[in-house]
Amino acid sequence: MAHFPCWLPLSAVTDVTLVLRGHKPAARVSVGRWGGELRRWARRHGLFTSLDADGFAAISRNPATARRVIDLDRRPGRHTLALGTMLGYPPCCSRAAARVGDESIDQLHAAMATRRYHGRFRAINPSGYADGISRLSQVPCSHSCLPSLRLAVLSQVC
Ligand SMILES: [Zn+2]
Repeated sequence: MAHFPCWLPLSAVTDVTLVLRGHKPAARVSVGRWGGELRRWARRHGLFTSLDADGFAAISRNPATARRVIDLDRRPGRHTLALGTMLGYPPCCSRAAARVGDESIDQLHAAMATRRYHGRFRAINPSGYADGISRLSQVPCSHSCLPSLRLAVLSQVC
């Protein structure tokens, strides 16, 4: 079990855990001014980090993948589906996000956060995302998305 920097939000910890365990090709996390520290931490764990000017970092086992995530994110135009694929989000959820576009993902998130999640699907409720306590880094496409549930279970930190 890796020791995570204390300033990393829980949602980023679960996301980076999935990258460390090889379940996701890359994670994109908000690091603010901690980019250099994240880079040093990542190196110690065999991961590579690419930073942008807005305080975001992409982290991956592959340095080219980390760079591609940052490059794609900076590029103008619609790239929701391609970015979702690079970050290992379930295809169903990436398609749902691409249908509304980057500019409306917050509304999609708000809509999905009001749904009722039953039983084990409570693990994919995105309502804690803004507080950094969600187990998912993507908005689930439905309240019963099995690929999202699989990621939530895989990301359990303990
Ligand atoms: Zn889905």
